[in-house]
Amino acid sequence: MPPPPPELRELVDRRSSYRRDHVSRQADVGFVTPIPIPILVAGRHERSRETSMKLSEHFDLAEFCTSQEAARRGRIILPTDTDTQNLARLCVTVLEPLRTDLGRAIIISSGLRPPWLNAVIGGSPTSAHQDGRAADILVPGLTPFEVCERVAALGLPVDQCIHEFPPQGWTHVAIPPSGDTARNQYLTARVHAGRTIYESGVHA
Ligand SMILES: [Zn+2]
Repeated sequence: MPPPPPELRELVDRRSSYRRDHVSRQADVGFVTPIPIPILVAGRHERSRETSMKLSEHFDLAEFCTSQEAARRGRIILPTDTDTQNLARLCVTVLEPLRTDLGRAIIISSGLRPPWLNAVIGGSPTSAHQDGRAADILVPGLTPFEVCERVAALGLPVDQCIHEFPPQGWTHVAIPPSGDTARNQYLTARVHAGRTIYESGVHA
């Protein structure tokens, strides 16, 4: 019998670490309900079941682990425990309060990007997507600019909120590394002469 593929070995390791860590993780982010231990599955097609875990009332880990770019390469995105803890903090402190205020579903267009994926898509080497501290979001019925304005009006504890490539773009929200103070930096990203330029403040 051939040795199991690296992905499967990682699943086995992760499953036991969930058992060890899930109680302390709940305490970190204030969960009161038990988090089910993911079901161990062997097939790559079952990836979404493996990463299915509720992070807050309306957000599931699997929503942050989907990437068309990874799928095209036949790769799967498996979060580390730190990634999962950061994503849970992002949900509890920013996304869930925003969803409650808007009264609308929030679509995660890009969530976790492990360093290999970040490199493939040409992301910033310091991108907060790499350890689950950032998400690109869309809210049907609102422009990305309106979403940025709402994040600012609510005073959510964002490290960065970026209006990315208006008017057709998206909203990037990020939290600081654990223990760091949120910078509350608001920016607008545009392309000038083939380069991405960041303006201070969110603009239409
Ligand atoms: Zn982003």
